[in-house]
Amino acid sequence: MATKEVHDRGHIDDKGHWRPERAQGFAPLFTLPFRPIALLKWLFGWGGYIWPIRVIYVVLAYVTWYLLQGGVLETYKSLEFGWIALIVLRNLILLVTVFGFYHVTIYMLKVEKSYGKYHPDWQIKDSKRFLFHDQVKDNMFRSIVSGVPIWSAWEVLYLWLAANGRLPLTTYSQSPVWFVSLFFIIPLWREVHFYFIHRLLHWKPLLKAVHSVHHKNPNCGPWSGMAMHPIEHIGYLSVVLLAFILPVHPVHLFFISQLTALRPAHGHTGFEGPFFKGKWPAGDYFHYLHHKHVSCNYGESTVPLDRWFGTFFDGEGTFRRKGK
Ligand SMILES: [Zn+2]
Ligand SMILES: [Zn+2]
Repeated sequence: MATKEVHDRGHIDDKGHWRPERAQGFAPLFTLPFRPIALLKWLFGWGGYIWPIRVIYVVLAYVTWYLLQGGVLETYKSLEFGWIALIVLRNLILLVTVFGFYHVTIYMLKVEKSYGKYHPDWQIKDSKRFLFHDQVKDNMFRSIVSGVPIWSAWEVLYLWLAANGRLPLTTYSQSPVWFVSLFFIIPLWREVHFYFIHRLLHWKPLLKAVHSVHHKNPNCGPWSGMAMHPIEHIGYLSVVLLAFILPVHPVHLFFISQLTALRPAHGHTGFEGPFFKGKWPAGDYFHYLHHKHVSCNYGESTVPLDRWFGTFFDGEGTFRRKGK
């Protein structure tokens, strides 16, 4: 699907907002009627559940644990500046690479021009709403200064506790089915955790004091993804607690933490994908609708929690406030 085609398959309203021709829906995993062909296509097709994004994150988790962390838990028995600093540095590099990739290509080089851009404006450069009066600088600052250290702290805490025998662990040879299943379970758990933590963040006092930082970006760009208040970073990344409770392997810890920290770059592009002449699946209209309307679509589009809890908006017709 070429970029121009993606653009042509949408509508622009009188205020210049673009929306896709199709209504937003959910993945065919938990939706009825059961559609086996659609499910298989979604599971194994390009841009589906597995390939390519999640496979890349599984590979990244393996590279991180075995090549960059050395693959031996005993190394992390005591908290030492050296290995902690390397984790922070790696996460900084990963964050800048992934978020920067979308920003540079789509917002600076404008390879998609404005085809499929949901919001009519580009990022704001002169508003007191943002740190440094600049939306991108504000978003980058929050992601790097707060997001990276908190993401790293969760990883450090896990390694230190696991090395000291405080956490349940498993290996592929001990339980191969469980080990492989975790790569499917973790992304689903991530969505469920996100839905509930996100709804909590929309409780008025928390929305005002904490989550309003993320919602400064109704017109989100890639860097808006991790532009959060530090308390939200702690809560959002607490998804890794799964690895503190269930028997997992360090590879699963890195899979869950890297997916959670970097996934927002793919989901906050502000554009309808796929990108780069239709070759790269990214973009998230589901979450864009949350930024635009605020009181809907708290989760994501695999587990239909928003449908079950009455907070779903498919983008069609006039928006009416959902939930509380
Ligand atoms: Zn967001
Ligand atoms: Zn929100």
